Amino acid sequence: MYKKTLRASSTAVLATILSSSGALAQQGGPPDVPAVTVRGQTYTPRSILARNMGTEEDQTTALAPHKVIGNIYYVGTRTLTSYLITTPAGHILVNSTYERNVPVIKKSVEQLGFKFEDIRILLGTHAHGDHQEGDAAVKALTNAQVVVMAEDVPALTNIKPGGKDHPIDRQIKHGDTVTLGGTTLTAHLTPGHTRGATTWTLPVEEAGKKHNVVITASYRAPGNVTPAIQAEFDRTFKYIRTLPCDVQLGDHGGQYNMLAKHARIKAGAPNPFIDPAGCWIDAEVQEAMLRAQLAMQK
Ligand SMILES: [Zn+2]
Repeated sequence: MYKKTLRASSTAVLATILSSSGALAQQGGPPDVPAVTVRGQTYTPRSILARNMGTEEDQTTALAPHKVIGNIYYVGTRTLTSYLITTPAGHILVNSTYERNVPVIKKSVEQLGFKFEDIRILLGTHAHGDHQEGDAAVKALTNAQVVVMAEDVPALTNIKPGGKDHPIDRQIKHGDTVTLGGTTLTAHLTPGHTRGATTWTLPVEEAGKKHNVVITASYRAPGNVTPAIQAEFDRTFKYIRTLPCDVQLGDHGGQYNMLAKHARIKAGAPNPFIDPAGCWIDAEVQEAMLRAQLAMQK
């Protein structure tokens, strides 16, 4: 959960990134070391968090809702993603984000011509408030079935906005599937960032062609990497690269260069979200950072 630190220090964070890359953190938020360079771009724990979260305004302002590919639509904010997967039997929503964003997501769904009340299933990528705090509010408005990875249940039950219990209707495990109206998503347990962090895959069709979509969880290591967390990440980084991928989506837009790709959407042009070569860049960044952090911890 980043809400408190980010609110207090996002301006300071951005200013520090601009002026003193490599310097130790002067105040709250993650440090500005170590720095890793992946495909010509340099990252620090602080710059990654700033990229993922943006400003308070970025976290709560809708990015113009749009079709991503096939039956997947974007209904999230400028930095916190939320996807509507439409089917003839109702819809699936992935990530409710913060509770205060639920009306923002609802409006985006309606702007696309769909009904929020037609959401039948609510999924999430991991048990942090910026992705799943709004689950109870979505459940209250839609009565959707809330499906969660079993390993994230303890963390989810601690997310209680306004004292409301976190809704959990179905617990799944690695490899389980969720099907609605002819669309099937597969859940992959990819822990490290949280114990039950979940990467979702689904095939979509567009213009007569099949594409493999991967909705990645966060793979960002915490400040202190314990041997148990390292073991989770070792498995996760090896495993995710085995997933077929033509289109990477993520739980933060920054993980797949969302704003730049969104800006390139043009009728008649190739879909900018089809980017097999870009699928594992964020995983590469997060793995390099994990290794650098472990080296520094020694
Ligand atoms: Zn998180």
